[in-house]
Amino acid sequence: MTCNTHAPKRTDGVPAIDVRALQKHYGSFQVLKDVTLSIAPGRRVVICGPSGSGKSTLIRCMNGLERFDGGELHINGLAINGKARRLDLIRRDVGMVFQHFNLFPHVSILENLMIAPMKVRGKSKAEAESLARFYLERVKLSAHADKRPLAISGGQQQRVAIARALCMEPRIMLFDEPTSALDPEMTREVLDVMVGLAGDGMTMVCVTHEMGFARSVADEVIFMDAGRIVERNVPDVFFQAPAHDRTRAFLQQII
Ligand code: ADP
Ligand code: MG
Repeated sequence: MTCNTHAPKRTDGVPAIDVRALQKHYGSFQVLKDVTLSIAPGRRVVICGPSGSGKSTLIRCMNGLERFDGGELHINGLAINGKARRLDLIRRDVGMVFQHFNLFPHVSILENLMIAPMKVRGKSKAEAESLARFYLERVKLSAHADKRPLAISGGQQQRVAIARALCMEPRIMLFDEPTSALDPEMTREVLDVMVGLAGDGMTMVCVTHEMGFARSVADEVIFMDAGRIVERNVPDVFFQAPAHDRTRAFLQQII
């Protein structure tokens, strides 16, 4: 089987993710204030910032899980406009991994990986199983294929969740604090999988406070506060010479 799905397919300068002047309110509370961000195919971006700064809302907008009320958002050149068919197309290209793994508890790990490719992408059972086994091997969990999710550790469950997203053969992967519910050892094993993905050229947006990961993998680190992008830079500059007081204060708290 050929699984070269991570290679950026566009070389014509269209950003993988293009966010322009994005605004979002929850009632009268403005959670995103004029967020502009363009991410080229194959780039790895880490987003950090205090709790409540709008990080989850921003990346949930990137796969159509949240609506926004101002600005524009394009994924691989396709505008997200709230229409159901568009959202289906966009979600095919965008995989997402959450803090809580949300695996189906009553079916095997292998079946967890096969359901969406069959239902959403119309894969045959044999194709879906082949993909599932390929990505389970990628996250080093082949030996657990027939177990139920709750029979493995939290770190292993999160690796299953990553494999499940990869089975949809996305061009972009979004991670929302994928290790924040895990202890340090499990965090390491999940980060190792993410580092491997980054090495394959996958376009990645990761909300995380794992600054070691950011230093070693990110092309760019973004700091959000109160619904705005306060600062963005390559990791070396971001960590060594942050331009803003708020970034400095935040980094002092978490490092
Ligand atoms: P972060 O991921 O940076 O912690 P979020 O994007 O989750 O931030 O949330 C940003 C702000 O929006 C927070 O103040 C949060 O309370 C508020 N918020 C998030 N989701 C909702 C919602 N569904 N309804 C109302 N307020 C929300
Ligand atoms: Mg969040």
